[in-house]
Amino acid sequence: MRLSRFTIMLDMEGYGALFNGVTGCMDLVSSSFLQFLDALSGQSSGARRDDAPSPGWELLSIMKLRGHITEADEMEELHQFRRYAALLDRQNRWLDRQTAYIMLLLSYYCNLDCTYCFQKDFRKTLEHARLRPRDVDLIFERHLEHLCPGVQADKIYYTLYGGEPLLMHNMDAIERVLQKAGDRGSPVHAISNGYYLDSFLHLLGQAPGKISNLQMSFSCDKSVHDAVRVLKGGRPTFMRMLDNAEKAMETGVSLVIRVHMHHDGEESFRSFLSLLEQRRILGADNVTVHAARTKNCSDALEAEHHYERSVGSEELMRLAPAVSSLESCYYHDLQRLAEAQTGRGPAKTVGCMRGKQNCYVLDPFGDIYACYEEAGTRKYTIGTYSDQHVSFLPFRKEVLAGTIGNQNAQHISPISLITGGGCNGPSLRRDLSRHHVSRDDLTRAIVETALKQVIRDTEPRLPAIGNTFDHMPINFPNDGNRSIPALIDRFTDLMNEAGM
Ligand code: SF4
Repeated sequence: MRLSRFTIMLDMEGYGALFNGVTGCMDLVSSSFLQFLDALSGQSSGARRDDAPSPGWELLSIMKLRGHITEADEMEELHQFRRYAALLDRQNRWLDRQTAYIMLLLSYYCNLDCTYCFQKDFRKTLEHARLRPRDVDLIFERHLEHLCPGVQADKIYYTLYGGEPLLMHNMDAIERVLQKAGDRGSPVHAISNGYYLDSFLHLLGQAPGKISNLQMSFSCDKSVHDAVRVLKGGRPTFMRMLDNAEKAMETGVSLVIRVHMHHDGEESFRSFLSLLEQRRILGADNVTVHAARTKNCSDALEAEHHYERSVGSEELMRLAPAVSSLESCYYHDLQRLAEAQTGRGPAKTVGCMRGKQNCYVLDPFGDIYACYEEAGTRKYTIGTYSDQHVSFLPFRKEVLAGTIGNQNAQHISPISLITGGGCNGPSLRRDLSRHHVSRDDLTRAIVETALKQVIRDTEPRLPAIGNTFDHMPINFPNDGNRSIPALIDRFTDLMNEAGM
């Protein structure tokens, strides 16, 4: 008998909480029982029947049904995880095939020269080409059926991307995309630095043929932003972008303001939020302010600098829901799980667009990439498109196979099915770590912050908390055996019945 490698134990001061990242079971237990489990986790050979604490063996049996305790050894439990993750992935792929996400990289050219831009290294050699209206026609009329066969038009999401997409020299291609997508009922999003947004306001809004969702990024307030997010030549951009964000908000577009949390930028981050509040951007119905840790990992930096040091996880959690963050996203997922009565536990088998079915970046050179951060680096091309056809390279299979169940054991942890494992290219982790936040231990700390908050928020609806109790389930209270082998049996049957 061992503690499952997928169970997280939390000391909630006065009682303990358990969460199993595969079965999804959340439980409150007494502090003494938590201590017993803690001791169990330190034993290599597992506990014997007589080691059971008060209240004894019955509680241990319940813990087994919830997945927190297992008779399987390390290797066997890992094997069970891989089998279960493969089932979840089969289900996810079936669902993924009902939608498509196509990023149209209009051009690698950008009017800005941000110090941290991940396209910096190769932009010069690629920035001359751009997607033209005839390329757009080809994509919509000839290539869609190969890229995302059978997907209904209103489930195909297009994103205008660059470089900077919202520039006048891209206007003809943008208008063609909006016309084609509008005719078919397909939503169009854009990721823009917003510097020239005032020339594109007429294209924003919720009507068909408009850009319905727009993401703009700021590097905190003026003091940091104007040092790193600058025009070519170094001139500042902050005030113009902020004014443009305000104008965009008036169009009804769903606006996502991404705030990059730069190293040592805590005060600048807080002051930017105040400014958004003064301008009534923070809190507007159609605006989401999202705090994002930025790229961080120069190989030269020491470990603690791999994350930008900015406001902490607890503070971000307190800022939710006004400010979204990784913390608040995980909070929502875990909160839903805390209310579940039956069904799947956490089920994310890929961490990002790279491992998903029907997710592509199409660039103006006819190259297809699986990830927008790989776009422009030709060794990561997964396929090509031309006048005549779309063809995929063997690398695409490799990318799609990078699901969490196939990753190395050291990357499989209690949070694997919550995060999907982050970047799905383990062989590329080092390469991509310049751009990704990929430190598993820090991601786990973020998930634990969210988990603690979910458990705190659950307390009021649970009876008798604070009195002596040995165990109280939070979710799946009457769902029987939820050990990993039992879930494998359950989902195999369900999927066979559904013909998946
Ligand atoms: S706006 Fe975006 S694409 Fe342009 S330089 Fe800055 S980070 Fe790079």
